[in-house]
Amino acid sequence: MPDAHTLNFSQDPHRRLNALTREWVLVSPHRALRPWQGEVEKLPPEKQPPYDPTCYLCPGNSRAGGVQNPAYTGTFVFDNDFAALKRDTPKEKSDLGNKGLIVAFGEPGICRVMCFSPRHDLTLSTMSIADIEQVVHTWIEQFQELGSMPQISHVQIFENRGSMMGASNPHPHCQIWATSSLPEAPTRELSAQQDYLHDHGTCLLCAYAKLELEQGIRIVCQNDSFVALVPFWAVWPFEILICSRRHLPAMAELTVKERSDLANVLKLVTSTYDRVFEVPFPYSMGFHQAPTDQSAHPEWHLHAHFYPPLLRSAKVRKFMVGFEMLGTPQRDITAETAAERLRFLCTTL
Ligand SMILES: [Zn+2]
Ligand SMILES: [Zn+2]
Ligand SMILES: [Zn+2]
Repeated sequence: MPDAHTLNFSQDPHRRLNALTREWVLVSPHRALRPWQGEVEKLPPEKQPPYDPTCYLCPGNSRAGGVQNPAYTGTFVFDNDFAALKRDTPKEKSDLGNKGLIVAFGEPGICRVMCFSPRHDLTLSTMSIADIEQVVHTWIEQFQELGSMPQISHVQIFENRGSMMGASNPHPHCQIWATSSLPEAPTRELSAQQDYLHDHGTCLLCAYAKLELEQGIRIVCQNDSFVALVPFWAVWPFEILICSRRHLPAMAELTVKERSDLANVLKLVTSTYDRVFEVPFPYSMGFHQAPTDQSAHPEWHLHAHFYPPLLRSAKVRKFMVGFEMLGTPQRDITAETAAERLRFLCTTL
């Protein structure tokens, strides 16, 4: 036997476990050392007007389908005009020949759009903390309203920012999809959190956040109520996980102070992102809150994921292709290196 070798996370290729989903990511830190000969491009700054007469989300404008937006002054929520889900879909199962091969279930649900602000030119990173608190307040109202419907088991709040992430409109907004079944990612996280609580008698994310805070190397920023970190198992180059410090299943349980701290950490994270390549940073972000399936969820810990696609510049993105599509997701820049860079940009904001 050769001498015992301790895995060097900054040199040895290795795979890391995602404790939340129990999936793996392949990390190849030595590849981040290879010379980069591609372009390092900057995009010209894209200046948006405070009001855009052609934007279907701006106050007073007409949406496709002819509905006119009210002259709203804060947040504004409406049912998506081109909803991916319909409320009255039958929930029935279809299984061709009862062979378990061509199987489908009807999926009733509700899709809403929520504008963060009447201002077309703002984003979470440029909005005031007070205005982001209003966004948090509306998220809570929506989660409670949709989650209390008997046919709704999960409420997914998510934001796609930037055309690279498929956002069709720069107006600051998110989407809220309420579904009758628990979607794939929360289903995996639910069983991991349930098993962890059962096996260790403690919450998975409480224990994980504690470990990360002790180590410190993957922390990006923190305040009294939240911690933002690059998770050990990150797949996207500058992926961030935001965790509440206190164990709670959903945003509605946040105190007034914690809601303000959530607004603060969201502004910190999004402003830090905008400094990475000096462009409005594209991402998909979303909150994972406890299922709204009428059962208690002592295992569930409120958190948010930020998945930004950019790798080396404003234009060079990571693609999930080849081995990643057919095998396991892979990354070159380690979570620790990404966190170090983000932490530096955050502390010098
Ligand atoms: Zn607009
Ligand atoms: Zn917890
Ligand atoms: Zn999650």
